Amino acid sequence: MNCPWCDTTAGPRALQAHLCERHGDRVGTGTRDGRTFYATTCPQCGARHEQTVRKGTGDPEFLVEFGTEIRMVAFDRLIHHLIAEHDQVADRHAADEQNKVDDRREMER
Ligand SMILES: [Zn+2]
Ligand SMILES: [Zn+2]
Repeated sequence: MNCPWCDTTAGPRALQAHLCERHGDRVGTGTRDGRTFYATTCPQCGARHEQTVRKGTGDPEFLVEFGTEIRMVAFDRLIHHLIAEHDQVADRHAADEQNKVDDRREMER
């Protein structure tokens, strides 16, 4: 998979960690009608994914305390979106498999 914000390539899990580490500021949070929500916007198509956080509503400490958790969930959602909507390859072994195929071809020669 490719990071939508930079040229990092990684499997879904590694990409999720990368997104949290490098692009955590891409997850927006806020409150509406007394409920806390977080949102991600797909940089490729502008699709917005918003999800209400059930626990910690109205607690200003919540976003600080659970910021990492929220980002993990938000980016997980974005990764699924990238796979489903933008034909990103989810299999982290895809590149390795391709190399194996090449190796086999080498042996057949
Ligand atoms: Zn990146
Ligand atoms: Zn998209």
